[in-house]
Amino acid sequence: MPSAGAHRNLEEAARAIADTGRRFYQRGWVWGTAGNFSTVLSSDPLALAITASSLHKGELQPDQVIVVDERGKPTSPGRLRPSAECLLHVRIVRDRPREAGAVLHTHSVWGTILSEHFAAKGGVELQGYEILKGLAGVSTHQRTEFVPILDNDQDMDRLQAGLGKVLARNMSSHAVLLRKHGLYTWGETLADAERHIEVLEFLFEVVGRTITMRQHEGEAIWHS
Ligand SMILES: [Zn+2]
Repeated sequence: MPSAGAHRNLEEAARAIADTGRRFYQRGWVWGTAGNFSTVLSSDPLALAITASSLHKGELQPDQVIVVDERGKPTSPGRLRPSAECLLHVRIVRDRPREAGAVLHTHSVWGTILSEHFAAKGGVELQGYEILKGLAGVSTHQRTEFVPILDNDQDMDRLQAGLGKVLARNMSSHAVLLRKHGLYTWGETLADAERHIEVLEFLFEVVGRTITMRQHEGEAIWHS
């Protein structure tokens, strides 16, 4: 049986996760039943509070947040089940034990577009923007943040193994994009992870719109 303290932690975590879900839905980052959110309740043994599978994030309720162990198996009572992507959350909190106390996953329009546009380059490079200082440990705009892109896969064992390799190769990155799928980022707390989503989604839109404008300018010169 979990202690009373663990219950209180779960309740608080579930309320905070539900609030995040509603905010992200309003901002267009988790349409449909896309996205999932988690926060670490205890690290040894791992207990992760995570949104259950196939839920509308704009109407997320605290009792739709469940607890899973280090194998992604539910340990809380009830019939709700975690999404298959739960294993990716587990992988991130295990491979980034100091940085990842919470993991957030969104499916935004700009993130999806850039994940395909930059796939051949292996990632999106974000450089010189003031808002990069919103990422944990970054104190100057003179920073190159590399968001690696990993091919999507419906085989979760293969995908989480691939994610592990990408995380190991990019120790200073704050996030990973899944190709034509969405963004995974993390933070010490849920608030830190939410700030990372805001910073990265802002920059994805800036980069995407900049590419589009340059293409239009190029076409205008071509036709003049
Ligand atoms: Zn997803």
